[in-house]
Amino acid sequence: MNKTTLLSRLAREHGTPLFVVDHDVIRSNYAEFKRFLPRVQAYYAVKANPDPAIVHTLYRSGASFDVASIAEFRLVYENIREMPGRARQDFIWDKVIYSNPIKDQRTLEELDAFKPLVTYDNLEEVRKVRRHAPHAGLALRIRVPNTGSMVELSSKFGASPAEAVDLIAAASDAGLVVEGLSFHVGSQCTNFENYVQALSTSATIVEEAAARGFNLKLLDIGGGFPARYDRHVRPFRELAKIINSELDRLFPKSFEILAEPGRFMIATAATLVAEVIGKAERDGKRCYYINDGIYHTFSGILFDHCQYHVKAFRRGPREISAVFGPTCDALDVISQAEELPDLKIGDLVFSENIGAYSHASSTWFNGFPPAKVFHYRR
Ligand SMILES: *Cc1c(COP(=O)(O)O)cnc(C)c1O
Repeated sequence: MNKTTLLSRLAREHGTPLFVVDHDVIRSNYAEFKRFLPRVQAYYAVKANPDPAIVHTLYRSGASFDVASIAEFRLVYENIREMPGRARQDFIWDKVIYSNPIKDQRTLEELDAFKPLVTYDNLEEVRKVRRHAPHAGLALRIRVPNTGSMVELSSKFGASPAEAVDLIAAASDAGLVVEGLSFHVGSQCTNFENYVQALSTSATIVEEAAARGFNLKLLDIGGGFPARYDRHVRPFRELAKIINSELDRLFPKSFEILAEPGRFMIATAATLVAEVIGKAERDGKRCYYINDGIYHTFSGILFDHCQYHVKAFRRGPREISAVFGPTCDALDVISQAEELPDLKIGDLVFSENIGAYSHASSTWFNGFPPAKVFHYRR
């Protein structure tokens, strides 16, 4: 069955808006990541899409997890704890990194029992971790260039490379152990040079730290691996080739390398199906109102700076049309210019590659619930 036939059948059976997650695509994204970056263990960044079924599929494929709140930690812990063959205590570092450099006191207290690996990037955090999670291991998050990434993170997180070794020493003085470094080049990073710079900066810090007696053994190369939203995004294998050669050149084989891909694993694995619920002509332009929008699955347009195309199942001559969400708010605009045929009320439309930072930030605004999720397994 082809994809549009399947999507319209599912929409008829389950109603709209319907967020269809294809687990084969998740598995193949994970396999692609491992195949091209064999030295790197993938810790799926749960915030991209925290659906427990997605966590299950990735866990079964061999993934570990990057969590950034206590709720995400519990979600992963509850879901992977039930898996056979895993004892309670032996997986935390293998399977989970807590990657939010800022953690409140209660979070640290709850995490401490698990002897977690957590990131930090400042002195206040060292004090908090010493008091509230003395059994945690640390990774120092450093600031690296985010130039050209779709979502930039370097103004919010990361110690400057110049203060890195002092922060490692401070943690050590506090009785904590810094296991290694982490960075994030910005999300949807299509400027591969960011990774090259970040790896080189990290290698320099590792050397400086060693000279002062601190032996780091772990490098977390973060997220940012771009999803192929369109053909302008160069293939993952090209980025992987660059990363592999820099890793091999700069870090000994014994170094543990991890990454925190979010978008790469899940963006291309979901499609949204929505329904035309209203139609008008304004200033000579066709306007469609559909039953999903900016406060819901299309929230990434706002939060993630990601534009999604709306496609029709119906054929016919197309013209530039506006597509609006269902709420009464003026912000609820999906697109002012989509090429669409003449649609009727009740027609279905769909948006592909909408798995990351979409359903995860959906709200109940104006009484409209988030899209129903359907997990498709062949
Ligand atoms: C959001 C985030 C990620 C995931 O980033 P992607 O660009 O989706 O791969 C990884 N690590 C940290 C610390 C993050 O904040």
